[in-house]
Amino acid sequence: MSKKSGAMVMAFLWSCCWMIQLITGTPVGTPEMDRAFGAPLTAAEFACVPTFGKAAPEDFPHSEGNDIVIVPNKNAYLSRKWPNASAIPYVLDSTFSAKARCAIGYAMTQYHKNTCIRFVPRTVETDYVKLNNLDTPECYSIGLGYYKGGGAHEVTFSPSCYQYQAGSIMHELMHRVGFNHEHTRPDRDTYVNILWNNIDAGWKAQYAIAEGSNLLLTYDYGSVMHYGLGREMTTKLNTNGAVIGQRQALSQLDINKLKLMYCSK
Ligand SMILES: [Zn+2]
Repeated sequence: MSKKSGAMVMAFLWSCCWMIQLITGTPVGTPEMDRAFGAPLTAAEFACVPTFGKAAPEDFPHSEGNDIVIVPNKNAYLSRKWPNASAIPYVLDSTFSAKARCAIGYAMTQYHKNTCIRFVPRTVETDYVKLNNLDTPECYSIGLGYYKGGGAHEVTFSPSCYQYQAGSIMHELMHRVGFNHEHTRPDRDTYVNILWNNIDAGWKAQYAIAEGSNLLLTYDYGSVMHYGLGREMTTKLNTNGAVIGQRQALSQLDINKLKLMYCSK
């Protein structure tokens, strides 16, 4: 987050709190909007490679701030595993632009290419991933992973989520299949300092340790699930050149964790 994005953040915090009220007791089942579903992604959209502008400016809003609306107490949420990784149903908001559909297709393809996870168009399934389009600087998932009988499992993207890269889409999808942020692992204090005084009250939950996490492979500074350092964190160890907070691609360890959770027998 940058200072210049403060107004946007305040607007987001408001919407965040509004949503928390709405979803009390029904973690994923209360849609925050009622839009028509669009056509599923085509083969061409899965195969497309999005083009992006030049690198994001430094004051580009940290659009994933507070991006898990309900914060569970685990990093990899094994009890929230989707029951059939080879067919996770999804629906798309009908208002996504061609650019958005390309970026979503590209992000899903990274899962399809590197793991056994497959996102498939919903037919009659009760539980499914619902990708919403919102014209504000926000990307978020309501809850983590799978809630049996929960219905629509909401993930929301705005144009800021795919303006400069598609990694924020991969990030939110990783929340949706059950993963928390890398910098919230129980062992994270060995790897990063959290500068609590630099974190606004409304954001502190995004830095709280996720107790009882599973699937802790080597700490991954390069994970698509790690926030950028910003003013909020510093590193304790040699990061070996990793770009911290990268949103270009799933890291190898991200892929390994996804496979460990979903693809090992
Ligand atoms: Zn996140």
